[in-house]
Amino acid sequence: MTSELFTLTITEARERLVKRELSAVELTRACLDRAAAIESRLNAFITLCPREAIEQAEVADRLIARGNCSSLTGIPLAIKDIFATRGVRTTCASKILEGFVPPYDATVIERLRAAGAIFLGKTNMDEFAMGSSTENSSFGPTRNPYDLRRVAGGSSGGSAAAVAADECIAALGTDTGGSIREPASFCGVVGLKPTYSRVSRYGVIAYASSLDQVGPFAKTVRDAAILLGEIAGVDPRDATCSARPVPDYEAALTGKVEGIRIGVPREFFVEGMQEDVGLAVRSAIKQFESQGCQVREISLPHTQYAVAAYYLIATAEASANLARYDGIRYGLRAEADNTLDLYNRTRDRGFGPEVKRRIMLGTFALSAGYYDAYYRKAQKVRTLIRQDFFRAFNDCDIILTPVAPTTAFELGEKIADPLQMYLSDIFTISVNLAGLPGLSVPCGYDRKGMPIGLQLIGPPFGEEIILRAGDAYERSGCVQRQPPPL
Ligand code: GLN
Repeated sequence: MTSELFTLTITEARERLVKRELSAVELTRACLDRAAAIESRLNAFITLCPREAIEQAEVADRLIARGNCSSLTGIPLAIKDIFATRGVRTTCASKILEGFVPPYDATVIERLRAAGAIFLGKTNMDEFAMGSSTENSSFGPTRNPYDLRRVAGGSSGGSAAAVAADECIAALGTDTGGSIREPASFCGVVGLKPTYSRVSRYGVIAYASSLDQVGPFAKTVRDAAILLGEIAGVDPRDATCSARPVPDYEAALTGKVEGIRIGVPREFFVEGMQEDVGLAVRSAIKQFESQGCQVREISLPHTQYAVAAYYLIATAEASANLARYDGIRYGLRAEADNTLDLYNRTRDRGFGPEVKRRIMLGTFALSAGYYDAYYRKAQKVRTLIRQDFFRAFNDCDIILTPVAPTTAFELGEKIADPLQMYLSDIFTISVNLAGLPGLSVPCGYDRKGMPIGLQLIGPPFGEEIILRAGDAYERSGCVQRQPPPL
């Protein structure tokens, strides 16, 4: 029995913890043992914190004994290594942050701590969240639990793999262009990118500030709703964070989807999409219809420009955000005779090839003479993409698409061809450009047994309706989860 504790969902674990049938220490130990048994194959974690986790679990058990617990008390979580965690090294999977131990917690970490959650460790990712496969990590790639020769997706590949392989109960990631939804889909778990501004980014290492957003990975839609409820909400330390009240997301999961109008964009069923992905998504559409949803075709005509606009805007913002890594204040410092050399050598040694490529692209896009041709034009295209979505939401309540054109690809398959890698995000990045919420829900497996995900997109602050639809789909039981063959 104990050996299976790590497969529990938040909801199941919470029930047993409250009834005192299970202790937080037992649950935490089960996850840590599971990680110890499979980490050498998966590499989902950059840093594991077994001692701290058990200490936190002991505190949680005392709180539960006093009847003093909230929804996450005693629940073991994994945290993407992009969040500042007090006293625990935070690397962003980069050599340039070598030795950096934050003296403070990100707001979301503070909130989860206050809710009694347990932190098992920090998960692997693409360096500075730049990538779609977790191969751009200076700690080596994470492997997909369903096939160790394949990628887990990225950039939050470690969090997705850790949830899929039951090394934790749920996890936290960030999504700038698809980094929660794509790895969730590749690993067969639920991932949610909330509306831009829904969750505080204080203490989250910045990649592209007009796109970055924090969100949960979980085994069920309900668990994702519970986590979102804990992390969402206004934060005086993040001026971009919305003051809009946080609804009870769990209460939104009524199981009723009758009458919901689902838009299916014709531009998202493209040539080159893997056949099994198209089939699985189409059968999910049928399932929604049989549950009483009205499905209609819609058009998002500027979709074809999304990848180009994103890779100008994201790199431009990254080139500015990454200027702070100069070897002076924290992290790696190279030996040098003068300050300029120190900057140059530190950045040369500290950043990996993809990060350097992005800084150069972004600096170019912003430079005098090119700004109007590239950066300003990309911003105009972004507005058109947003308008496409707002027009579409006149005719539908949510939008349904595949998460990615393929299932998880093989390690090394796309790493030499950045453009091919960038195309993995073709269905997710327009959602970031428009600032909308997007949910990735497992919808089947391809003929090789690799998971497939479907994406539900909502209007701004429409998390409740996409969670409700995702939960109803999950509860219909039309997809039987197959545990990874580990
Ligand atoms: N793959 C995209 C990129 O490399 C998105 C990454 C992300 O969402 N952080 O920029």
